[in-house]
Amino acid sequence: MSQQATEQVYGHYIGGEWTEGSGDTFASENPATGETLATFRRGTAAEVDRALAAADEAFEEWRELSYIDRAEYLWDIYHELRERHQELGEIVTKECGKEISEGKADVTEAWHMVEWAAGNARHPHGDVVPSEVAGKDSYMRRKPRGVVGCITPWNFPVAIPFWHMAIALVEGNTVVWKPAEQTPWCGQIIAEMFEDAGIPDGVFNMVQGFGDAGAAITDDERVDTVLFTGSAEVGHEIADTVGGEPGKLAACEMGGKNGIVVTENADMDTAVHSAVMSSFKTTGQRCVSSERLIVHEDVYDEFKERFVDIAQDIAVGDPLEESTFMGPAIEADHVEKIRRHNELAREEGANVLVDRFELEDSEIPDDHEDGHWVGPFVYEIDYESDLRCLNEECFGPHVALLEYSGTIEDAVEIHNDTPYGLAGAIISEDYRQLNYFRDHADIGLAYANLPCIGAEVQLPFGGVKKSGNGYPSAREAIEAVTERTAWTMNNA
Ligand code: NAD
Repeated sequence: MSQQATEQVYGHYIGGEWTEGSGDTFASENPATGETLATFRRGTAAEVDRALAAADEAFEEWRELSYIDRAEYLWDIYHELRERHQELGEIVTKECGKEISEGKADVTEAWHMVEWAAGNARHPHGDVVPSEVAGKDSYMRRKPRGVVGCITPWNFPVAIPFWHMAIALVEGNTVVWKPAEQTPWCGQIIAEMFEDAGIPDGVFNMVQGFGDAGAAITDDERVDTVLFTGSAEVGHEIADTVGGEPGKLAACEMGGKNGIVVTENADMDTAVHSAVMSSFKTTGQRCVSSERLIVHEDVYDEFKERFVDIAQDIAVGDPLEESTFMGPAIEADHVEKIRRHNELAREEGANVLVDRFELEDSEIPDDHEDGHWVGPFVYEIDYESDLRCLNEECFGPHVALLEYSGTIEDAVEIHNDTPYGLAGAIISEDYRQLNYFRDHADIGLAYANLPCIGAEVQLPFGGVKKSGNGYPSAREAIEAVTERTAWTMNNA
């Protein structure tokens, strides 16, 4: 499947074959225009059952290949991702509405992950440990867990699937993957890449569909590890039920209510840039987007004036244009969710500084009237611990300004006062404040004098508290898809 929309109905990739299955059809929609891009079959329990049976059967042979032989299939995909960078970036942008620079960055991050996982096949995979007894050799070895069920969100429709699948496959597991229902086109293209790479039948399987197909995967006893990235609502349900079953492991990476702390000695250009990028890029629909800006009273007025000026002026635009800073929201239901969050903030006492939620007709790009457009919503509010607007993830261009007085300790106390713990940033020229934030902010991803945005696959990516259940993604996924064996051997 290429850039061209077609009349064909696309199905699932199971056991090395394409199959339509028996489910209803559903459409992939361009959120910037409302046009249908392609039509797909919804996966049912029957397709999931066949995919799991195929993955189960393929496991024994796949695990017997060397790491390096397994990685060869991934290297083919790595080259294809690079060669098709522009084309795939445009598909990401058409299907999920991200600005084209972000669409291409999604593809870049995917090949970074594939490069890391395939390259890691040549690195040590265990430890040789000294023994207390002469003549005894002791090792810690890793072995694959079996069938890995991968459930992914729409907002990184190429990168996150590879975060999950590249490591799982190189480590010797087989995979059943369900792409997000908003981005089945990306799912189709990734499955075609595995087919083109000639991966053995049943090692990689893809079932399109919605949450019911996802639950059919995660709940099945043939699945040894679930790798989930998505909302806290769904992730905690999976972590609590599936993760509690003996022998089964669920690694869940979820959302955040991320904050940026701007201290009294912050460089204002850096502070404003960090907040604008993190709150509005990708229309606020990133797990690391910041929805709370915690600003010291000494610099509050200056920061507020500059941030509000930019929020008033940011233009939404056609995400395929290189110059566009902010594209649409993903779908109509999500626009409604953002509206409810904005209303909630008002009900809880917000002083609204910018309300561009309903954009003027003149602000919407020509020929894009049916897109899901929203603009920035910025408010200030007196900090109180239990305000829902400061505790619940909106996942849109919705941001609170909170003024604090006192020390870095006071700022971090406010910063940590949410149930989430994914990401946060500090803007400060004082290394002691930076260090305090690094050591005391309850988050998995901390940025200093940078936008609260970005991932590098050679670092763990994940949160604490409500944002994760202890198995970060990217390189750390290795922990979730392998079992350790302590191997001791008498060599005397
Ligand atoms: P979502 O939870 O609605 O859906 C994620 C995936 O789960 C989809 O494939 C969906 O079909 C599937 N699903 C839904 N119900 C299910 C069920 N009961 N059982 C199994 N699977 C089910 O999330 P979304 O709207 O696609 O993504 C946005 C969310 O993802 C935000 O909260 C964002 O912060 C989070 N996110 C987190 C990270 C991270 O690394 N921490 C990265 C990207 C996005």
